[in-house]
Amino acid sequence: MTTTPAFTDPLSTRAVHAGRDDLAAAGVHVPPIDLSTTNPLPDVEHGGDAYETMATGGRPTATDSHVYQRLWNPTVARFETALAELEGCEEAVAFASGMAALSACLLATVSAGKSHVVAVRPLYGGSDHVLATGLLGTAVTWATADTVGDAIRPDTGLVVVETPANPTLELLDLSAVCAQAADVPVLVDNTFATPVLQRPRRQGAALVLHSATKYLGGHGDVMGGVVAAGPEWSSRLRQVRALTGGLLHPIAAYQLHRGLQTLTIRVRAQQDGARRLAEWLAEQPAVDAVHYPGLAGCDPQGLVGRQMSGPGAVLAFSVRGGYAAAAQVADAVQLITHAVSLGGVDSLIQHPASLTHRPVAPEARPAASVLRLSVGLEDPSDLIVDLDKALGAVTPTT
Ligand SMILES: *Cc1c(COP(=O)(O)O)cnc(C)c1O
Repeated sequence: MTTTPAFTDPLSTRAVHAGRDDLAAAGVHVPPIDLSTTNPLPDVEHGGDAYETMATGGRPTATDSHVYQRLWNPTVARFETALAELEGCEEAVAFASGMAALSACLLATVSAGKSHVVAVRPLYGGSDHVLATGLLGTAVTWATADTVGDAIRPDTGLVVVETPANPTLELLDLSAVCAQAADVPVLVDNTFATPVLQRPRRQGAALVLHSATKYLGGHGDVMGGVVAAGPEWSSRLRQVRALTGGLLHPIAAYQLHRGLQTLTIRVRAQQDGARRLAEWLAEQPAVDAVHYPGLAGCDPQGLVGRQMSGPGAVLAFSVRGGYAAAAQVADAVQLITHAVSLGGVDSLIQHPASLTHRPVAPEARPAASVLRLSVGLEDPSDLIVDLDKALGAVTPTT
């Protein structure tokens, strides 16, 4: 009789091995990187059939030629297999960036004849921008988590939400949003939580999107995006990718796939640091407010523990003294880097109202006193020393 091993933490085990199960049989220990832009064709007829299959979103069979890298790449497919497994989805489709991934979702929605999108703010600044401008042919209605159902029209093709949201870490109840959306597919940007802390498919999301540039890569040296979904949506997204060309490079796919192996341990350790920093910041007289789902009062719906297994490793705080004081803190940090992006092993701080959320409409823009901090793997005590000095450098405004 065989027994299933009682893994205490299946995700960390699968994060190490997903997308690699065939390697030992192939006699290698790490995935090969396939850089071919073109592939030999067995004959005209089979080559043409494979082309047709992939250009319309299908997957090649084991014996099909991959024809051309824009249609299929085995190194990218390995990363997709791994991420899909971690998100609990059947498939995933990878792109050159998070914005390329979102663009593909919007183009697939428009091409299906439903160009109205309902979205809940706050969203990542770029996502807000592409929806607000209607650049890809969508029309947006901004809703709150409670009014998603009311905003849906017969031509609504997609609901777009982000939780935790960028930059102020509001959480939104995904089961409630999916219930309101009913038949309309819900896209959840899961960049901040990662599958380590949240798997939105469980709450009914059709599409789970990542800027892989952030936690999945984790080292600030690779850009990518990925959408985990069921087979039908994945096929539509592959067709958009094949026709518009926003594909992930195989070397980037290799790096992202390797990043997944340490994702669990990085996210948990960074989260431990973020908890310490959030508690410390909340006690500083120079700080007005701390936004972090792990603090009492920041998670009124009790979603941490229910929807998310932990509050994550990004926090935001508001500096007493408004814009000038926040700008001084961003300039004064030394160990922490003043830079956009997040989710890497080193801590980054940035001023959302001036940078990542600059294109956002004034009414939806974060306050000028807010700084966003992505906590890395440094010793939290060293980060506290750095922030303490930076906060001490703020000129009193009285
Ligand atoms: C960075 C980010 C994006 C955009 O991803 P890119 O890889 O920069 O294109 C989308 N959503 C969230 C939450 C992000 O942080």
